[in-house]
Amino acid sequence: MSLPIYLIGARGCGKTTVGHALALALGYAFCDTDHALQQASGQTVADIVAREGWPGFRLRETASLKAVTAPSTVIATGGGMVLSEENRQFMREHGQVIYLNADAAVLAARLEAYPEAEQRPTLTGRPIAEEMVEVLAARDSLYRETAHHIINAMHSPDAVVSQILSVLSLARA
Ligand code: ADP
Ligand code: MG
Repeated sequence: MSLPIYLIGARGCGKTTVGHALALALGYAFCDTDHALQQASGQTVADIVAREGWPGFRLRETASLKAVTAPSTVIATGGGMVLSEENRQFMREHGQVIYLNADAAVLAARLEAYPEAEQRPTLTGRPIAEEMVEVLAARDSLYRETAHHIINAMHSPDAVVSQILSVLSLARA
């Protein structure tokens, strides 16, 4: 039985893109916690936040994390998954946690190039580049303390997948 692989990191670091490719390479299933919670609730993330606020969203996010956790699965998590101690502990105990690390400028450039790719409302309402600096300042240490492995996610998706496969095979050796 192979443990689930959790991908963590800020919006735009490539959790969905790299997660799909990694799942294909390993022959694993792929799940996205944001997608799963939208399907379970029949609402978009933006709708949930508008109706229930971020605290309501966070409760659903924890439930979604637990619901998608299964063997031989790559799990792309929402950028704020690590904010909860319960979520951090759950991921570390149930699988291998990979932090896809990228600079704020790289994240902002990706999100600006593909604004439709991410439906989540901005956290602050300010320019995306400023927001990413703040988000990383607040969360980088949480991503690092939660991760079993930290990967440079500023290379091509294929190169990022190769790095992950390499650290996982070293961890299993
Ligand atoms: P996340 O799920 O972490 O928010 P996505 O996988 O949706 O990130 O990627 C956000 C955007 O950045 C997408 O447009 C995607 O095509 C692009 N992207 C993701 N990973 C890379 C990468 N390694 N190199 C270049 N662009 C990337
Ligand atoms: Mg995603």
